[in-house]
Amino acid sequence: MNILALTFEAFRKEMVCRYGRDQYVAADIYRQIFTHGKPGLGTSRNGSVTASLIEALARDIQIPPWKVTAEHREEGLLKFVTQLEDGVEIESVVIPMVTHVTICVSSQVGCKMGCRFCETAALGFKRNLTVAEITGQVYTAKMRYGFSIKNIVFMGMGEPLDNFDHVTDAIRVLTDPRGFNIAMGRITISTAGLPDGIEKLGRLGWPSLHLALSLNAPNDQIRSSIMPINRVHSMETVKNALLSYPLARDHAFYIEYVILKGVNDSWENANELVDFLSPLPVWFNLILYNKGSERGFEQTTDADVSRFQAYLIEKQAFVRKRAVRGRSVMGACGQLGNRSRLMEPAAIHG
Ligand code: SF4
Repeated sequence: MNILALTFEAFRKEMVCRYGRDQYVAADIYRQIFTHGKPGLGTSRNGSVTASLIEALARDIQIPPWKVTAEHREEGLLKFVTQLEDGVEIESVVIPMVTHVTICVSSQVGCKMGCRFCETAALGFKRNLTVAEITGQVYTAKMRYGFSIKNIVFMGMGEPLDNFDHVTDAIRVLTDPRGFNIAMGRITISTAGLPDGIEKLGRLGWPSLHLALSLNAPNDQIRSSIMPINRVHSMETVKNALLSYPLARDHAFYIEYVILKGVNDSWENANELVDFLSPLPVWFNLILYNKGSERGFEQTTDADVSRFQAYLIEKQAFVRKRAVRGRSVMGACGQLGNRSRLMEPAAIHG
């Protein structure tokens, strides 16, 4: 039983089939595992949680033996690299904020989207992550590092909507109140713009889930030159998918925008961008471009981002500037996947 892939309901069924125990025992054990990392620790008021049951569970429940092979801390941020059973590595970033802790998780080993500004794209695509490999990143942050994670953003390696079933099943596990207990309204999926995936997500009936679009351009010409996926799905097609998305009344779409000097950061670009997105309710997240390896773009500065922010505000847009922290951690959206580090044990993309 890979516990990290099971919602409480799935675990409850296993407890009935394998051990003939009821939902109360299942609830006790499930809570113990997500609180202490294994069954049998903590207090159980249930007399049916016997020593022989704990022994059987300890044998049958697998917490996958992934290794953390690298970690880097900077300005409060923590990036850790996890080596999975087949030798590939993925990155996750923990971002402590004033009132809560956020984790940025990966959904694939590499990515097919090929965005030109992205370190992950440079590594190529290897495979989708399983449900447990996604939830396992949160488990590691909690059990190994002791973080009380409250927010999850799918902005690490990979395109989450290209691994739709595993990502959405992982969200079911992560939001289970008896387990990780993350509120749905604290989870954000960031997509490069897959209209079918956006439509499928809308049909799940999860109105409080946040959706971010990694847009990065004001028009098709610029976007196609930096994001190849735009040649398949134009900005208009993606916008139509967002227009029919059942967004909660008090929500807006997050528009991720990596500032690329001389490419997408002019006053004209800002005007065109705001006009294009109207009438969608949107909040802009401006992201500083981290020049990791040589990708043909200049490093942007805080001043560049502030200038573009001012252009957007002139157009009455709601803008947030991503805090400039952990520059060498490379924890910005689409910028995970330090190629030289990740290519050592296995040839992958991120
Ligand atoms: S920015 Fe996101 S979608 Fe684009 S290549 Fe990188 S990981 Fe994939």
